[in-house]
Amino acid sequence: MRVYNFSAGPSTLPLEVLKKAQAEFLDFAGTGMSVTEISHRDKAFEQVVREAESLTRELLNVPDDYAVIFVQGGASTQFAAVPLNLMHGGKADYIVTGNFAKKAWQEGQIYGDAVKIGDSSDKVYTYIPDVDKLDYSPDADYVHITSNNTIFGTRYVKFPECGAPLVADMSSEIFSREIDVSRFGVIYAGAQKNLAPAGVTIVIAKRSLIQEPLKICPTMLKWKVQDENGSLYNTPPAFSIYMADLVLRDVKARGGVKAMNELAEYKSGMLYDFIDNSKLYKNDVQPKFRSIMNVPFVTGDKELDAKFVAEAKQAGLVSLKGHRLVGGMRASIYNAMPAEGVQALIEFMKKFERENA
Ligand SMILES: *Cc1c(COP(=O)(O)O)cnc(C)c1O
Repeated sequence: MRVYNFSAGPSTLPLEVLKKAQAEFLDFAGTGMSVTEISHRDKAFEQVVREAESLTRELLNVPDDYAVIFVQGGASTQFAAVPLNLMHGGKADYIVTGNFAKKAWQEGQIYGDAVKIGDSSDKVYTYIPDVDKLDYSPDADYVHITSNNTIFGTRYVKFPECGAPLVADMSSEIFSREIDVSRFGVIYAGAQKNLAPAGVTIVIAKRSLIQEPLKICPTMLKWKVQDENGSLYNTPPAFSIYMADLVLRDVKARGGVKAMNELAEYKSGMLYDFIDNSKLYKNDVQPKFRSIMNVPFVTGDKELDAKFVAEAKQAGLVSLKGHRLVGGMRASIYNAMPAEGVQALIEFMKKFERENA
């Protein structure tokens, strides 16, 4: 039986996509091989990479002077790739709004002066600092943000307007909200939240910014090299890219990013409304900054939280345990989570509240 999977990542994928992948697993595109066996230089596979790229361009309205590449190593590797490609003057600003933002900032310190210009740890990362009031360094090579904070359930509602190129880790929200790509220097996202199985990371970068990576930048982390080779510089994570392509086709068929955004607003709105009106559950995030992808909540009683997670699992609602830094529960409701899944969760929450009042 398929369950409703609320995991923060790797996370649920569209059922139709899984079925399609299953159906063509043994014979991909008439090759008599699976996509995991085929040469990455084979035309049939190259077509997959090109389609994934063009769908990304189409769905996010990526300007032509931006590279769209698929690389390995997860978003965490990009924490290093960002300074290695961009930190020419040896200085960058970081806004620390959660655990991954902090890791990105710490990685930046390996390569230069990574300045923390914003930090919301004073209130357990339950808000986003006012981006209009930050002290941006006039000589920063870039400003790094984490647009959606997966663990703490916050997101930027307004992006910084700064002189330096804006770099955004969008791992847990890419393709769920309409963005103006031209406002960013670089956007990157690990696939395993909203796009595909783990193994591939998407990088969208303004080409004029990536022409001269630092001398010490490993070849594999040079976005320019990946761009010039159409993401086929070395053996790519073929299966993950193939799945990303199927998911992007699915997103397009369902009405594109606008429709995904409306669905996410609807699902998260339903859940937050229920939480705010209940006596048992609480979400501590400042309402304005609430994520529409990751919804953490607590009962205030650790034992009751554990009971909730265990009983929800019995009811076919899995991976609801919150991150160890926050505790309680977290429902990750990415693009592939149907509204029915969120409705089922709310019904379960009602029942649990009645039984444990
Ligand atoms: C999951 C996540 C990461 C880490 O991704 P990996 O692919 O595991 O390296 C980084 N940033 C954000 C916002 C995430 O949600």
